[in-house]
Amino acid sequence: MENDGKDDYLIHNYQRAPVKFVRGYGSTLVDSNDKEYLDGLSGIAVCGLGHAHPELAHVLSDQAENLWHTSNLYRVDLQESLASSLSKITNQKRVFFCNSGAEANEAAIKLAKKYGNDKGIKDPVIVTMNGSFHGRTMATLSATGNSKVHSGFSPLLQGFQHIDYDSLEKAAKAIKSRQVVAVLVEPIQGEGGIVVPEKGYLSQLRKLCDQTDTLLMLDEVQTGIGRTGKWFAFQEESIEPDVLTIAKGLGNGIPIGACLAKGVAANVLTPGTHGSTFGGNPLVARVALKVLEIIEREGLLERAKHLGERIRHGFKEKLDSLDGVIDIRGRGLMIGIELEKPCSEIVDLALKERLLVNVASGNVVRLLPPLILKDQEATMLVEKLSVIIKEFLTK
Ligand code: PLP
Repeated sequence: MENDGKDDYLIHNYQRAPVKFVRGYGSTLVDSNDKEYLDGLSGIAVCGLGHAHPELAHVLSDQAENLWHTSNLYRVDLQESLASSLSKITNQKRVFFCNSGAEANEAAIKLAKKYGNDKGIKDPVIVTMNGSFHGRTMATLSATGNSKVHSGFSPLLQGFQHIDYDSLEKAAKAIKSRQVVAVLVEPIQGEGGIVVPEKGYLSQLRKLCDQTDTLLMLDEVQTGIGRTGKWFAFQEESIEPDVLTIAKGLGNGIPIGACLAKGVAANVLTPGTHGSTFGGNPLVARVALKVLEIIEREGLLERAKHLGERIRHGFKEKLDSLDGVIDIRGRGLMIGIELEKPCSEIVDLALKERLLVNVASGNVVRLLPPLILKDQEATMLVEKLSVIIKEFLTK
């Protein structure tokens, strides 16, 4: 694509591929030269229902003709309906709405700090994991266990202790301290390279937290809304968190995030302690309600589970025996192929083949395709990407 210089007006905080998409349908994106691409990323786990879904487009325009925004100075009926739907599928008691994953985690962090302060703990500590990602605001980047994300932003916010992911021993040791009020953890690390912990990790963390009145706060910003084949990844282990953060797939591209809480955690934030001007306005709430309805009606949770298994099986058949492939893993439609060497080049090679993929943690090819991906698209994804990876590894 020719450089038209228009991006000079943007702050250069992203490394963007030289392509502009102008429209989309289903799992397909179309660029400014009318070329079609298979979307293996869903805008980083956002467009689970694909692009320009007709029913979502309809409710969005219908709502736009009625009411967009009133502020949270008043009751918002659609926001209350959405909270009730989310409560039913998560068994959480109350919901705070915001506009992104980082804001959802920011709310959880404030909730945990206030929970500690209310208990008389002066300098409360939140345990988070090495390799985690929780966002780019000062609090969420401080919570994030990745020195690259911290770099250049010192002093970081105090009050986080980073421990090894998937280590119950380290968790048990950290949680013993009276200062520790909460554990914030992703059920599967996304940006960290699709890292799936041992079975039972979350339920054991739940037990440890219960023994010490520590809040278990799950960041399901990437894993949530059907991505792993359940509404939420924690449902795989039949436990429930005290606090749950979500965003990405909830609005299918309309910015919305939420922090949900149950038990004592549901009553920590009181009037005046937190807020958001836009959070949960009628426009976003109407779309999110429709997203939940479509996922349920179309059986997309089961679909994500089985399609994910099929895709991983396909990659295993084609790549497992290859030198340089370390692991093929994931759950549902959250899939990682770990290679022996750094592989960011694969993103460009795939783009040339009109396939959108991404690389996490330097050497893990990451796939987060839409939940509505068709069988033949899944086959195409496996075939195209396997060839690209083979060529990359053997050149
Ligand atoms: N938490 C997790 C697990 C994420 O994967 C992300 C984004 O990738 C975030 C939080 C931050 O979300 P946002 O970019 O919407 O602020």
